[in-house]
Amino acid sequence: MLLRDGAGSSNGGGGGGGGGEWLRPMDAEQLRECGHRMVDFVADYYKSIEAFPVLSQVQPGYLKELLPDSAPRQPDTLDSLFDDIRQKIIPGVTHWQSPNYFAYYPSNSSTAGFLGEMLSAAFNIVGFNWITSPAATELEVIVLDWFAKMLKLPSQFLSTALGGGVIQGTASEAVLVALLAARDRALRKHGKESLEKLVVYVSDQTHSAVQKACQIAGIFPENIRVIIADCNRNYAVAPEAVSEDLSRDLASGLIPVFICGTVGTTSSSAVDPLPELGQIAKAHDMWFHIDAAYAGSACICPEYRHHLNGVEEADSFNMNAHKWFLTNFDCSLLWVKDRSFLIQSLSTNPEFLKNKASQANSVVDFKDWQIPLGRRFRSLKLWMVLRLYGVENLQSYIRKHIHLAEHFEHLLSSDSRFEVKENENQYVFGTI
Ligand code: PLP
Repeated sequence: MLLRDGAGSSNGGGGGGGGGEWLRPMDAEQLRECGHRMVDFVADYYKSIEAFPVLSQVQPGYLKELLPDSAPRQPDTLDSLFDDIRQKIIPGVTHWQSPNYFAYYPSNSSTAGFLGEMLSAAFNIVGFNWITSPAATELEVIVLDWFAKMLKLPSQFLSTALGGGVIQGTASEAVLVALLAARDRALRKHGKESLEKLVVYVSDQTHSAVQKACQIAGIFPENIRVIIADCNRNYAVAPEAVSEDLSRDLASGLIPVFICGTVGTTSSSAVDPLPELGQIAKAHDMWFHIDAAYAGSACICPEYRHHLNGVEEADSFNMNAHKWFLTNFDCSLLWVKDRSFLIQSLSTNPEFLKNKASQANSVVDFKDWQIPLGRRFRSLKLWMVLRLYGVENLQSYIRKHIHLAEHFEHLLSSDSRFEVKENENQYVFGTI
């Protein structure tokens, strides 16, 4: 029991509420004992993870049958909790970290990322502004600058220039804040009443996160242009198709405001033509966002960096370290070229908003770069991944995955039951 024995007794333990024991939620020795047991439990889980069916076999509502319908009045033991985890929870878990898991995105846990999560849980800060934990803000600024250099992002995206990076929970939050900044920049230019005229351009391969962001940001649904991607360009969008829609919109008096290019689309890893999209955005004073949520990690390898060519024209760029960078969920990295646009949309401090000079001179308050107020110390896990593995090992890890994909292709093409259709860099396979 995570309780202190004997406290709250009649000779003045205090605060026990009449019972013989009282809650000691942060006893270091209890944590040591229970924490060791939990780490052992997790290590054993990882050791035997291949034995579990990757996809949970339970039916909806299964857990309601197994657990009581109200919280326990009295404390339970850690042993009985472990029993329930084994018998009732694990059967309902889909084992994302299993080597047999091939859905969605790669298994992405790592010892370094795990340790970073542990430390972040230990400090348990709510680092919304600088003073709430200077190290959290400053480490995030430093690590995102390191990462921007690893990706060879243009220097404007660094904190030392007008831009900077911030860790969001997900790519969906990243694109939402980018869109809010774009929307407000346009409304300042064209007037608040022009909201109904703002148009957003995506392809039918763009992640639905952008559509959701439009819904939240008040972009009129009829003003979201979903351009059919070009199957002859590996399902990347054709810039000519974007220009056609854009000309039609301009002729109707609408205002193009935001375009999203993807590096590594969710369905087929297609890469949109960033330089051309960037030129279009520039010519029409639109915000250009690049979503590299999944594939961006590969661009730390020099041989894949060319997929980011064109990022020079982007206003914002996002990639998820929690997808392919050994950093436990959640850790989505967003860089902007001019942070003042984000802050103008997301800060609630009118004085700060009025005065650009005070923005430039003040410390970073990341609450003004995101939707929620509170934020976790996420940079710790990314810092630990970078420090404990090093860039060279991380590059090798990504290369290994790409070689495995090539090996998989080889196995398929040498097996008569499968047909691999090659379309430049992209492969579609099916049973014959
Ligand atoms: N963008 C792309 C290209 C993705 O593949 C995904 C992931 O599924 C997302 C955005 C959304 O990611 P998140 O779950 O971090 O919002």
